[in-house]
Amino acid sequence: MTEGFSRSQPWMVVADRVMANTYKRQPVVFTKGQGCTLWDADGKSYLDFLAGIAVCNLGHAHPGIAAAVSRQAETLIHVSNLYYTTPQTELAAWLVDHSFADRVFFCNSGAEANEAAIKLARKYFKDRGEPDRYRIISMLQSFHGRTFGTLSATGQDKIKEGFSPILEGFDFAPFNDIDAVRNLISAKTCAILMEPVQGEGGIRAADPDYLRQVRELCDETGTLLIFDEVQTGIGRTGKLFAHEHFGVTPDIMTLAKALANGFPIGAMLSKESVAAAFVPGSHATTFGGTPIVTAAALCTLKTIESDNLLGHCREMGEYFKSKLTDLQSRHSVIKDVRGIGLLLGMELDTDGAPLVQACLEQGFVINCVQGNILRFVPPLIIQKPEIDALIACLDQMLKQVIF
Ligand SMILES: *Cc1c(COP(=O)(O)O)cnc(C)c1O
Repeated sequence: MTEGFSRSQPWMVVADRVMANTYKRQPVVFTKGQGCTLWDADGKSYLDFLAGIAVCNLGHAHPGIAAAVSRQAETLIHVSNLYYTTPQTELAAWLVDHSFADRVFFCNSGAEANEAAIKLARKYFKDRGEPDRYRIISMLQSFHGRTFGTLSATGQDKIKEGFSPILEGFDFAPFNDIDAVRNLISAKTCAILMEPVQGEGGIRAADPDYLRQVRELCDETGTLLIFDEVQTGIGRTGKLFAHEHFGVTPDIMTLAKALANGFPIGAMLSKESVAAAFVPGSHATTFGGTPIVTAAALCTLKTIESDNLLGHCREMGEYFKSKLTDLQSRHSVIKDVRGIGLLLGMELDTDGAPLVQACLEQGFVINCVQGNILRFVPPLIIQKPEIDALIACLDQMLKQVIF
């Protein structure tokens, strides 16, 4: 690399001119990845503790995924959902075998999976002759997506700003407050929609008692329980699905992010009794569950199983969390360390953006949610030396006066 010359700069200048201005991007152009390492256009390497926002659980450039996708690309990429295809069928069967669910609807994103769940919940009660039972209770600080339906379901005002009128029929309860849910639930409530661990909202896990009580309340009233496991699913917390930690089973579950290790996919899973509300014509998508993406997802799930990544995730998660807790004991700016498995958060009593920026300069990709909560969601294949390197960097940065 020539001193002072950056291969990244021209790309950033053009992107800032021609791309919709929807992101405040970090000043880096990534061009390559391998395992937990990323490289930018100038050849500088970074350790990745974000994994494309909890997506690349097997790491970057995984040879199994590359092979599965190339094989499928040479065979059949897309034919639409008007026909049967084999990778899609195999993937749905795998998910049904490994979950509470009987049926799977495939789409292309987390928001779409939640859209499907909202539509299914409403139609379920319409079909039962309860047309007024359409309201959904979701949680404050939740995140369910950016489409009109899912932003309406999201318990954060900043997501909705500028888009009124939003979809009608959502009520919001503070997270972990069962009395608030009891007060909101009515004869018009069709479903309760929630994340077992709030991700974008600040890495906040449901209290196990609370989650059990939500399930009981749903059972007493015949209300459907929908778990949004878009961020928490596919091994992120050390179980295939986060709700397994709590022993509480939903009626509907949504998946996306890590399901195909970086290929765009969403899935909405449900029990037969609920799934029956969707019949031909009820809901559809052109791309959902296309062969190439479902081949990637199948390979992702089988690799998680064959490489014992759930056990590895639990082990690395505990190690990582203990190291963060250790940091907390030495730096008073750290208010809290929390999370399950490799979905970890570190709350600061100051703005987190300068620390994210400083870590990036030092070659570490981390992220901040809600302004002051650092989020660590590395690939599940992360190893102790990589965690140690980040901890040493954070320690150094936190010693500097600015923090
Ligand atoms: C990311 C996320 C979504 C939205 O997923 P998209 O693929 O961006 O539409 C929904 N719910 C949760 C919990 C998420 O973390």
